[in-house]
Amino acid sequence: EQKLVEVKNLKKHFKVGKKQLKAVDDVTFDIYEGETLGLVGESGCGKSTIGRTILNLYHASGGDVLYKGKNLQEKLTPKEEKQYQEKMQMIFQDPYSSLDPRSTVLDIVSEGLRIHRPKMMKKELSERVYELLELVGLSKNHAKRYPHEFSGGQRQRIGIARSLAVNPEFIIADEPIAALDVSIQAQVVNLLKELQRDRGLTYLFIAHDLSMVKYISDRVAVMYLGKMVELTTSEELYQDPLHPYTKALMSAVPIPDPRIEQQRERIILTGDLPSPMNPPSGCSFRTRCPLAKDICAEVAPEWKEVKKGHHVACHLY
Ligand code: SF4
Ligand code: MG
Repeated sequence: EQKLVEVKNLKKHFKVGKKQLKAVDDVTFDIYEGETLGLVGESGCGKSTIGRTILNLYHASGGDVLYKGKNLQEKLTPKEEKQYQEKMQMIFQDPYSSLDPRSTVLDIVSEGLRIHRPKMMKKELSERVYELLELVGLSKNHAKRYPHEFSGGQRQRIGIARSLAVNPEFIIADEPIAALDVSIQAQVVNLLKELQRDRGLTYLFIAHDLSMVKYISDRVAVMYLGKMVELTTSEELYQDPLHPYTKALMSAVPIPDPRIEQQRERIILTGDLPSPMNPPSGCSFRTRCPLAKDICAEVAPEWKEVKKGHHVACHLY
């Protein structure tokens, strides 16, 4: 398997008053070409910030992001910068606020083309937009309309068309279905999967809904308070979660197979999510962990590969 994106010791800290908010705190993982990596965790755990930092929408506070071996944290020429902007696109959570209400669908979807293909003629541009609209299940008749004329699901299709305009290789989908009706969610997920198959796309799929993540992802990473706590294949994560936080998240997801349902260990989360401004010492999960030991308050657990391809940060392993 070929690594497309390598994230190494990535940090993104924000200054809030006199304090540091460690939104992303030393996170290391790879994304393979053609896969979907799911990224899950409670809101405020740093999922979106990782996405934005990988795309350089946020400047990293430390660490590196490599794309096909090229370090994007090093100074890039304007030409290189544009090139990577084309290859890496984002789909946003909220199809209501991420589309400019005063722009037509044509203008919205052609945004990237106008930036990255400045020589494209008007006619060519609209032809390309029509193609993209059909690709996402809309039609060329929609091009002259405005976002408010569409349903939530259709708006997310417009957002997807926009992200595909310049033929990206890697797409970060930041909770792309969270704002949609449940009945529409599967349609949008199926569209994303279809597009991935046909175009060889690689996804980082950010979500808090574990059942949907299992369905779409090859591997899943779990985050807690700015740290990655576990990463492995979807099957392994669902069959043999190791980190107590992952186990707790899993306890909340029903498993249709009664044999697995009966055998599995249940961990119910107690206590509130600590403030990310003031994370606990040592392991930041320790205030809610039923298995915490003395060392957990003193030493932060290391990020280790405990089985082939299965990474976890916990003193139990
Ligand atoms: Fe629980 Fe300790 Fe593991 Fe943290 S390191 S998850 S507190 S057992
Ligand atoms: Mg978010």
